[in-house]
Amino acid sequence: MTVLVKGARVLGGDPADLLLKDGRIAAVGERLSATGATVVDADGLVALPGLVDLHTHLREPGREDAETVETGSRAAALGGFTAVHAMANTDPVADTAGVVEQVWRLGRQAGLVDVVPVGAVTVGLRGERLAELGAMADSAARVRVFSDDGHCVSDPALMRRALEYVKAFDGVVAQHAEEPRLTAGAQMNEGDRSARLGLTGWPAAAEEAVIARDVLLAQHVGARLHVCHVSTAGSVELLRWAKSRGVQVTAEVTPHHLLLTEACAESYDPVFKVNPPLRTEEDVRALRAGLADGTIDAVATDHAPHAVEDKESEWAQARPGMLGLEQALSVVVETLVEPGLLDWAGVADRMSVRPAAIGRLDGAGDRAHGRPLAPGEPATLLLVDPAARVPVDPAALASRSRNTPYAGRELPGRVVATFLRGEATVLDGEAVR
Ligand SMILES: [Zn+2]
Repeated sequence: MTVLVKGARVLGGDPADLLLKDGRIAAVGERLSATGATVVDADGLVALPGLVDLHTHLREPGREDAETVETGSRAAALGGFTAVHAMANTDPVADTAGVVEQVWRLGRQAGLVDVVPVGAVTVGLRGERLAELGAMADSAARVRVFSDDGHCVSDPALMRRALEYVKAFDGVVAQHAEEPRLTAGAQMNEGDRSARLGLTGWPAAAEEAVIARDVLLAQHVGARLHVCHVSTAGSVELLRWAKSRGVQVTAEVTPHHLLLTEACAESYDPVFKVNPPLRTEEDVRALRAGLADGTIDAVATDHAPHAVEDKESEWAQARPGMLGLEQALSVVVETLVEPGLLDWAGVADRMSVRPAAIGRLDGAGDRAHGRPLAPGEPATLLLVDPAARVPVDPAALASRSRNTPYAGRELPGRVVATFLRGEATVLDGEAVR
């Protein structure tokens, strides 16, 4: 497939044509032509390297009624993603080479994005003993990111051993920072509002205490640590401090923590129940500032599909989590680009370049992600219309689940096309398959 993209603004710069041929960017320049090429009119569209998600729940194997590798991959492609890291809390848990290879193969069969399995840190996510980290790293799935996400690796000795172990293959431990003894029965952010609503609080200190401990451990053993879904102003301060001391720590923030606050809980609508919980306006401001100044490295969706019976119940019984893949870029445009906190190069950095580097997907070769849009590089990119505003209709989502917190909102930025190694996965805003 040869594609000629006409007049795209690469990273928001001046319009240029891009020729995509044999999976690579063959040329970038003015007035390019190619006989027999499929022409894509990109007038007014911004071209970005394909987005990379460090944190997706695809639910397969085990909960195919909520999502499958294929439906999640389609949602991802529609959101402009070309690679997603699939979290390990499936059933069975992805804690062996066999399960991570199964997920990896399902991703290849779907062929819409590169599905990169995350391996569990501990057997069964139980926090008791390390899983077969080396076997998962050596498997066909080449796992580099390990996480018990959904659970915190709360035992400090086990966390230290995991950090030591992954150094051998340049891996990273992605921590769900939540001290479980401080969040027993927690339903929402702890503060005046939780007291008034009569819901058990999830204190910021439960996240911050684990981050403080883990950056000290990462420094002590000289290993890479990644912090999942940072949600508080205090966490941003701790990360800034750790980075200033040279600790190899990276962090992500979710779209929902960039846009929504704990005020959503006033409705008691369980679509807004999520872990970590939505926080205060002050936290949201600190998260936006931290992402803008690079203290927070990446936006990661924590896309968490849930079947209706798990979500549409009373708040206390509902499962935590919300969809994210299809609206992530739009939320970043709304919360950072339009207010002038981040330009398009910054969006490319936080949603593609840095997450690809954290997952070690940025090396040379056809299958790389987060690469510059330049001749010779993989033709793995997206085109977004920054002027379009799109109402979010849950019924129109490609995900098998419907638990989007953005229903009824109008968000800026429509993904018009996504290309994975020169093949369109999305064209005219529709999934190609
Ligand atoms: Zn988590």
